[in-house]
Amino acid sequence: MNTEPQLKSERKKSCINCGAELTYAPGTDLITCDYCGHKEVIESAGQPFQELELNQYLQQMGAQSHAMEITMLHCDNCGANQHIEENYKSLHCVYCTMPLIVEDAYKDEWILPGAVVPFSFDQAKAHQIFKKWVAGLWWAPNNLQRASLSAENTKGLYIPYWTFDAQLDADYRGERGEHYYVTKTVGSGKNRRTVRERRTRWYPAHGKVDGFVDDTLVGASQQNGGKIPVKIAHWNLKELKTFDTRFLAGYVTEKYTIPLKDGHLMAVDQARQIAASWARRDIGGDTQRVHHIDMRLSEETFKHILLPVYISSYKFNGKRYNFYVNGQTGTIHGSRPYSFWKIFLAILGVLIVLGILVYFYNSTY
Ligand SMILES: [Zn+2]
Ligand SMILES: [Zn+2]
Repeated sequence: MNTEPQLKSERKKSCINCGAELTYAPGTDLITCDYCGHKEVIESAGQPFQELELNQYLQQMGAQSHAMEITMLHCDNCGANQHIEENYKSLHCVYCTMPLIVEDAYKDEWILPGAVVPFSFDQAKAHQIFKKWVAGLWWAPNNLQRASLSAENTKGLYIPYWTFDAQLDADYRGERGEHYYVTKTVGSGKNRRTVRERRTRWYPAHGKVDGFVDDTLVGASQQNGGKIPVKIAHWNLKELKTFDTRFLAGYVTEKYTIPLKDGHLMAVDQARQIAASWARRDIGGDTQRVHHIDMRLSEETFKHILLPVYISSYKFNGKRYNFYVNGQTGTIHGSRPYSFWKIFLAILGVLIVLGILVYFYNSTY
């Protein structure tokens, strides 16, 4: 790997006092030196960020001003593409922990991220959250807590997403359903009774709906080293900051594996669902049918954004487990081992209690 990167994006963030590497300080707009405490402000953080015009990008990928070259390492095991900041000591895939070979690094182009939600707390805090989670697990093996859960195994990863904005206009055709009730007599003889039954009368409906679809979020990461669980994948996008490579200092950044074109198709699908829900609202009545939607999107813009997650994998009895902490909110989710003996003994306990109850019940009668 080229140890002297000339690219602006990969310029070394060295401390002017002591030469040590500066890293992003979570929860701030600063990069700091761990050795002498020197701080630098990321001034661009507060500036408004730019939405990019979509069509131009779909037509001439790779040839525009917002593309940038970065050094990437590809994981052959799970398929993730990771941009490792210079001087990153441990070169293991964040997803699947396979060692990455520095010599395999290659130059790659990516669409420059427009905005980033920076980490709001550090690795040590993420590790605390994990320890607390482990302590609260039921049916987990006792020695899980003693298992090697070193804080260094917890890595901060910026995950790529596409977001799309568009003006949506749609013509729809459907039906408006209105409920009414009929009383019917059922049964015969003694069992004769009347019941109220709901029916629906349908009326044809058509019309137009329009509105602005803001920030449709589409995941841009596809690998098989463990998906980001849906439970932790909620970020407050109001806290997006204008992208600056300094926010990445000290963290691993994943390059999108789902191209813009495919991400856009997923966003169009989501827009179609939004159009259908707007049509239903427009139709009104008690219930609706939508038969046809003619949807048009215009003024389409997009952003490539990065969102923060701490990932750790731990080995337990020879098996690998992953856990994930949302780097903004601290929400945690992960896979976990179960203790066979704890569950076995609990079931045995329940069976014994039941056996005793049955015994006394039988002996009293
Ligand atoms: Zn320093
Ligand atoms: Zn991997």
